Amino acid sequence: MASFDAAVPQWMQFWDLDTSAIADFKVKACVIRNKAKFNQRSLIPATVPNFPFGYALGSQVWVLAQQSEYYTRHLLLHEGVHSLAYHLFNGAGPTWFQEGSAELLATHHGSGANIKINRIPQSREDAPYWGRFKRMSQATNNKEVPSINTVLGYQPNLTGDVATYSWSWAACMMLSSYPEYRPAFVTAAQRGKETGPIFNRELQATVGKQWPILAARWRVACHDLNYGFDWNNEQVKLSAKDPVWNGSNLTLQVRPDQGWQSCGVRIPRGAKISISAEGEITLADQPKPWTSQPPGITFRYHRGRPLGQLQFCLLPNANDPQATRIEPLEIHGIENQSIINVAEYSWLLFRINDECGKMNDNRGSYQVSIQRAR
Ligand SMILES: [Zn+2]
Repeated sequence: MASFDAAVPQWMQFWDLDTSAIADFKVKACVIRNKAKFNQRSLIPATVPNFPFGYALGSQVWVLAQQSEYYTRHLLLHEGVHSLAYHLFNGAGPTWFQEGSAELLATHHGSGANIKINRIPQSREDAPYWGRFKRMSQATNNKEVPSINTVLGYQPNLTGDVATYSWSWAACMMLSSYPEYRPAFVTAAQRGKETGPIFNRELQATVGKQWPILAARWRVACHDLNYGFDWNNEQVKLSAKDPVWNGSNLTLQVRPDQGWQSCGVRIPRGAKISISAEGEITLADQPKPWTSQPPGITFRYHRGRPLGQLQFCLLPNANDPQATRIEPLEIHGIENQSIINVAEYSWLLFRINDECGKMNDNRGSYQVSIQRAR
């Protein structure tokens, strides 16, 4: 309960609202350990559907106790966010916004008075049984990652489908983390009463011509989201105004403490480019710092590739708004002289292979050269 009380003012701050708006906000919460007994004693109104995890009806919430304290607390906060949305906005918007923002404001570090909401768990051990990333990586492995438009079109369902919750959460994280989308996202909450397509149309109208950029960033984020992911250093600098590459030599410093880094131009269809790299970085680690060069440290692996390896990918400028799933990014590791043929107008992105959440103390950079291939 102390966690809940400490979360409420943080939720208000997230929505840019003054705490005076919640002077009369009170939630009655029940954590249920034995649902059969609970039902026998008719403690849940008959109007409440059979719920798999939790349910909020106005200012009353019920949560089924889970196998970990973290997950039970997460569900309690999740339902509390719904209650707050009903209280403040008379509704919580369409499915993706309702469930995604509840997930967003329920993920946390710590507990009790020290709880910090809107924090991605640092490790699986920090969030036992919560399972969001497990479900997302299953989708990634099966090439079933939904497009951003699919997520925005999710229909209400009461089965508590973890995939629906996870991707909705990812969409809300992205929209609230990039400073250019955040105002539109926060303002959208005020339209919580609207649960139909008008809600999305207004949001899309606000983001406007930036929508293809958002869709491209979605594709990148879905590839990398995991425990310890930090939106502060995973924002990808992309612009519709990035010039088309004129074929002249480009150089780029790629840093190991940042996510995907664009070379700043759009590579035209039909271009053939050659990429080479040099330099040394330090990936701080126990018991001693590891130094790496562009091919990476071949006796330490992350996601099946050498730690510290310079990686690159082509991110197409265009995306098909009708597609229900995203095409997985094709990630390449640098070789002595990597040659690539560019099939469609694309950004060229680089990053250094390392675990999410372990990048902050990395130092140095690789110097990357991009040339027209002969
Ligand atoms: Zn919910």
